[in-house]
Amino acid sequence: MHLAVYPPTGRIRLAAPTNIDGEVVRLFAISKIGWIKKHIKQFKDQPRESPREYKSGESHYFEGKRYLLKVIEHNGFNKVEVTGTKTISMSVRPNSTRDERASILKEWYRKQLKEQLPPLFSKWETEIGVKSNEWAIKHMTTKWGACNTEAKRIWINLELAKKPTICLEYIIVHELVHLLERSHNEHFVAKLNQFMPKWKLHRDELNSLPVAHGDWGY
Ligand SMILES: [Zn+2]
Repeated sequence: MHLAVYPPTGRIRLAAPTNIDGEVVRLFAISKIGWIKKHIKQFKDQPRESPREYKSGESHYFEGKRYLLKVIEHNGFNKVEVTGTKTISMSVRPNSTRDERASILKEWYRKQLKEQLPPLFSKWETEIGVKSNEWAIKHMTTKWGACNTEAKRIWINLELAKKPTICLEYIIVHELVHLLERSHNEHFVAKLNQFMPKWKLHRDELNSLPVAHGDWGY
């Protein structure tokens, strides 16, 4: 049987063979209550970002670094760029709404991630010896990545644009290893250990970083 507690809210997943008695599963879950509660508490104590207004002076993360947002109102095209080492400058039309600014920034993150992904995919596909048919960036609420092993299609969470690149690489490695092994079994873990010996460190870092407000609301 396999028991796991997932961030950010402490969703619990218990996998058991189909032929196992329900009562055995129940007793197993009960015996793990302390362990489950401990993990849920860890996720609850995790820092969370406050709601964003997309105004000057707010903190926004990119590639694991904190930047201050600078909103410039002008009558031209919308534009987002990193200026200097600490600022994300966003030029928008005067009187733009919060939601408009939010979506402009979101699209900027998507564009950045789109540029980051091809070299990382080709690096790790070569390393692992697999080839995905397709990958895409998706705004997901409960997962950092997903892999459809039959279609060999990988989805990468848009939120990863905000996280350190090594964490993004860990998710790519994790999903690519699924092309060798569908489930999270010993073989899967052995492959992760082989290709990315410090994967647990990167996973833990990812799960300890601030969770975006409202993005993980399940
Ligand atoms: Zn997985």
